[in-house]
Amino acid sequence: MYIPEEKISEILNTSDIVDIISESVILKKSGRNFFGLCPFHSEKTPSFSVNASKQIFHCFGCSAGGNVLSFIMKYHGITFPEAAKMVARKYNITIETKEINPSKRRELHLKESLFRLNKTIMGVYFDGLKNLNKGEKAEKYLKQRGISEDTIEQFRLGFSIDNWDTIVKVLKEQKISKNIAVQCGLILERKQKNGYYDRFRNRIMFPIFDINMQVAGFGGRVMDDAMPKYMNSPETPVYNKSRILYGLHAAKQFCRQEGLVYIVEGYFDFLSLYQHGIKNTVASLGTALTPDHVRILKGYAAKMVLVFDSDAAGINAAKRSIKIFMKEGVDTRILVLPEGNDPDSYMVKHGPEAFNALASNAKTIMQFLLQVSIDSHGLSVEGRIRILDDMKQQLSLIQDSALRSLYIKELAENLNIDEKAVLEKVREQYLKHNTKKLSWIDEKKDEEKPESDRREEQMISMMLNCPEIIDEIKNSEVLEYFYSEKLKHIGKKIISVDPCKKAFITNVMARIANNEDQELIASYAMNSFFSEQDVHQTARSIINRIIRVRKRKENTLTSKIISAEKGCDSELMELLKQKQAEIQQLQNR
Ligand SMILES: [Zn+2]
Repeated sequence: MYIPEEKISEILNTSDIVDIISESVILKKSGRNFFGLCPFHSEKTPSFSVNASKQIFHCFGCSAGGNVLSFIMKYHGITFPEAAKMVARKYNITIETKEINPSKRRELHLKESLFRLNKTIMGVYFDGLKNLNKGEKAEKYLKQRGISEDTIEQFRLGFSIDNWDTIVKVLKEQKISKNIAVQCGLILERKQKNGYYDRFRNRIMFPIFDINMQVAGFGGRVMDDAMPKYMNSPETPVYNKSRILYGLHAAKQFCRQEGLVYIVEGYFDFLSLYQHGIKNTVASLGTALTPDHVRILKGYAAKMVLVFDSDAAGINAAKRSIKIFMKEGVDTRILVLPEGNDPDSYMVKHGPEAFNALASNAKTIMQFLLQVSIDSHGLSVEGRIRILDDMKQQLSLIQDSALRSLYIKELAENLNIDEKAVLEKVREQYLKHNTKKLSWIDEKKDEEKPESDRREEQMISMMLNCPEIIDEIKNSEVLEYFYSEKLKHIGKKIISVDPCKKAFITNVMARIANNEDQELIASYAMNSFFSEQDVHQTARSIINRIIRVRKRKENTLTSKIISAEKGCDSELMELLKQKQAEIQQLQNR
């Protein structure tokens, strides 16, 4: 799909990057910029910055950067036209979709159909619960589990009546394609291929909403001991299990308010906490948490508390999930409930105050892992060696160096082992699994940049921040004197944009396809490498300096060649000529 340049400009001029990014990253204003935790790399202190007047973002940690469209593309993993459409929709800008390719159109159409059908069926299940004869036991069951009318209403809980063809009939009545319903996972084809039957029967139904409150899928739970206890919709184009968390659509505002999110496993755990006023909660639905889940949650709260049952399954689930949280560098606590409780039963028995008190004493990941390890190995000399073996694996996963060394220190103290010995173990472990450069162990400094690069960077940064100097840049042809080909290329892109244009920087970015160059631009735009007193004067002096230095270098070279010729130093002459040719080649490129 092709989106005309004017449309892109309109989108860039209308949208607000702070608005858009704060939907997924918590931003705090500090000076001229907003700062938050980078969604593209793991960190504990915010180095991700957004500048409202320049309409760009830049991460001082991982150098990710760009305009509002590059953010959307990177964050959601979508293409440029998709990102443009997404932002356009938010600001009610219409984009002609005539030129959308047929396969893409089919995909969009399919997604819409799946959402629409799920919504219809949610209504059917919801009515099932109110069905006088057949829904009664389900209603009773929910009541007995302490679920209130309001909760049922808000989360649209339902009941799939014990029939083989409730949904099949609805499809027929409403003339909905069976194929779509099969793709949704609502019905299945009979083995004999002579018809279809409902997948969910005699189950309490939980619609699973995505963040935009669209029904992505369903979970169904039996009311007795039948197996399987839980059954979920299959993965579909609208139900991506590695990205959807149950309840986030309702919990997100509370997660923001509290700066903290509780992560529980099941539907009832979630509903029970939510209903008792602990609304900053989401449920993972038993599927393993993924890095995407954690990154999405990072957009709503900086702190996370994983809530688990105290049984072996709970402990193992906690151990499995922890790795991801460590890798993402999130402030995570582990709350293991007292024996014999799950979050739901605990809440019903003890209430929210007791839960909050328990949660405020939740262990850090390291404390938790250490406790689990001590419980199984004991604190004898051998036990402590085993514990260290257990822990080194976890420690080697932490990306944040400050955090890692804190944990290493903590562990050394707890085990009464020398800190250096612990570090050595962690290092060994890391080397075993990472053949590539060990960035946090052999830290190598960046090579100093040549003086010329710095001046050229200064020039580019100025052009971005003070478009009023662009005419001078054009007239002086200073870009032709740049040593860095990359910067020259960027400079040429900059002067191709009308300097009077609104949202100048982001419009420059829109012309650059290369992601790396976009990031460079964001970093130059964010870092003002110049004083802003008299831009024109500063610009002229940088221009002159770039041209003068380049000319002088070449003159020196030429004069050296002449004197080498005179002195018949043929070797030196060869070398110098070679250099001169190289320079000329660079210039002509
Ligand atoms: Zn970053």
